[in-house]
Amino acid sequence: MTDPNDWDVTDDKFHEECGVFGLWNANDAAALTALGLHALQHRGQEAAGIVTLDNEGIFHSHRGRGLVGDNFSDAKVIAELRGHAAVGHNRYATTGETALRNVQPLYADFEFGGFAVAHNGNLTNAYALRRALVRRGCLFQSTTDSEVFIHLIAISLYSTVVDRLIDALKQVQGAYSLVALHNGALIGARDPMGVRPLVLGRLQNGGWVLASETCALDIVSAEFVRDVEAGEIVIIDGNGVRSIKPFGRGQNRFCIFEYIYFARPDSIVEGTPVYETRKRIGSELARESGVPADVVVPVPDSGVPAAMGYATEAGIPFELGIIRNHYVGRTFIEPTDQIRHLGVKLKHSANRAMLEGKRVILVDDSIVRGTTSKKIVEMVRQAGAREVHMRVSSPPTTHSCYYGIDTPERSKLLAANHSVEDMAQIIGVDSLAFISIDGLYRALGKPGRDAARPQYCDACFTGEYAIRLSDLENNTEKQLSLLQPAAGQ
Ligand code: SF4
Repeated sequence: MTDPNDWDVTDDKFHEECGVFGLWNANDAAALTALGLHALQHRGQEAAGIVTLDNEGIFHSHRGRGLVGDNFSDAKVIAELRGHAAVGHNRYATTGETALRNVQPLYADFEFGGFAVAHNGNLTNAYALRRALVRRGCLFQSTTDSEVFIHLIAISLYSTVVDRLIDALKQVQGAYSLVALHNGALIGARDPMGVRPLVLGRLQNGGWVLASETCALDIVSAEFVRDVEAGEIVIIDGNGVRSIKPFGRGQNRFCIFEYIYFARPDSIVEGTPVYETRKRIGSELARESGVPADVVVPVPDSGVPAAMGYATEAGIPFELGIIRNHYVGRTFIEPTDQIRHLGVKLKHSANRAMLEGKRVILVDDSIVRGTTSKKIVEMVRQAGAREVHMRVSSPPTTHSCYYGIDTPERSKLLAANHSVEDMAQIIGVDSLAFISIDGLYRALGKPGRDAARPQYCDACFTGEYAIRLSDLENNTEKQLSLLQPAAGQ
C-alpha cells in the first residue's frame, strides 16, 4: 500500500539546480535580492544566500540552509546586509553535499578586493581542474564545482578582474550562468552555448538586475531588457552595461527542458513565454497521439498548461481530476499502522466526481523513474476511472543531465531501460505516449529538430551531449573532500 506521507508528484522529476540574482545601484539591495530569490525558489530549495556590497567597499554575507523565507524574513538580517549592490543564490545541490560551506554566493578576498560569485549550472571538467589546482597549492573550502572559478581567478596572471574572469571561463567546460560582484562592477556571464538562462533587467531608479528568469524581474518591478547572450559577459557599473563576447560566435544550445518543466510558467525564456509554449506542446501532443476519452486531467501542477493545450486541441473537457494540497509540511504526522491502513494521501487527492466511470487522459510533463506515475495511476483507478491513458509532454527521458540538473543515473531512468509498451505496463496505464522530439521542436516554433545543428540542448532525450563530459570520459575520481561536516554545518 502507498505510504501516506512520503510521496509527491515532484519527487520523481528532474530538479532544477540553482537560481541566481544580482543587483547594481539599488536602495534596499538585500531586500530586493531576497524578493528576487523568492521568485526563483522553484530553482532550488536547499539553501539560499546573499552577499551585498556597501559604499565603503565592504561586503556583507548571509547564507543558510532552507528556503529564502527561512533565511531572509528577519528584518535584522536584511538590515545587516547593507549596500547598493548584491548577488544572491538559491541552491539545489548538483555537486557537493548539502553543507553550509557549499552554500553560495561564494566569497573570496583577492589583492584587487572582495569578489562574490553565484553559479547556476554544472562544470563538466571541474574535477580535473580541481585536481590540477590543488596540485598547485590551492586550498578548497567547499565541495562545489563553483569554487573552481574562485581559484582560477586567483591564479590568473591578468591584471583586471574581467580579464581574470575571462581567463577562468576559457578553462572551464560545462554549463554556467553566473553573477559576480566586486568593488567596481556587477558581472553576468553565460557559457558559450547558453545552456542555462540569464536575463538583464532595469530597475525604475535606473539600477540594473541580472536574474535566472524574468519572473524575478517582475517581483522587483524591473523592466526586462534582454537575455544575456550565449557566451556573453556583461559588466555593469556606473557607466552602464558593457558587453564582451570572448568566445566568438558559438552555437546556442539552450536547455529545452526549461520550457517543458523547470522555468516558472509566467517567465519569458529566450523571448518565448513559457506558459504559452507548454500549451503548444500539449496541442502538438494531442495531434500526435490522440485517443478517445471523456476528460483530460493534468498531473498537478506542472502538467496543467500542457493538459490545457491538449484538451483544447482534442476537443475533450479539461478537468482537475487530481487535487494537490500545497499546505502539507514534511512531517505532518507519523503514520501508525492504523493510519497507514487508511491509505491516506496527504499531498494529493483524486477528485472522484471528475474521474468515476470516465476514460481519462492524464497529462504529465515527464516520466523519470516512473515511481510516482505508478502511484498517480493507481489513485485515479481507485477513484473509478474506466480507462487511464497517459500522455507526456516531453520525449522519453533516456539520458542523465550533466549540465546542472539533478537527475538519477541512467540505470534508474525508466525510459532508458524499457520500451514505451513496457513502461505502460509498469505504470499501469491502458496506453502511453510521449511527444516526439520533432513535435517538441515544432511546438517551439521550429520546423523540427535540425539533426546537423540542433537548436537546443536535448541530451537527456537524445544522448547527444553538446559540451564535452571530460570528467566522465576520464572516469575522474569524485572524492572531493575528506571532511565530513557535522549535521547542520
Ligand atoms: S540534458 Fe536535458 S535537462 Fe540537461 S541541459 Fe540538456 S536539455 Fe536540459
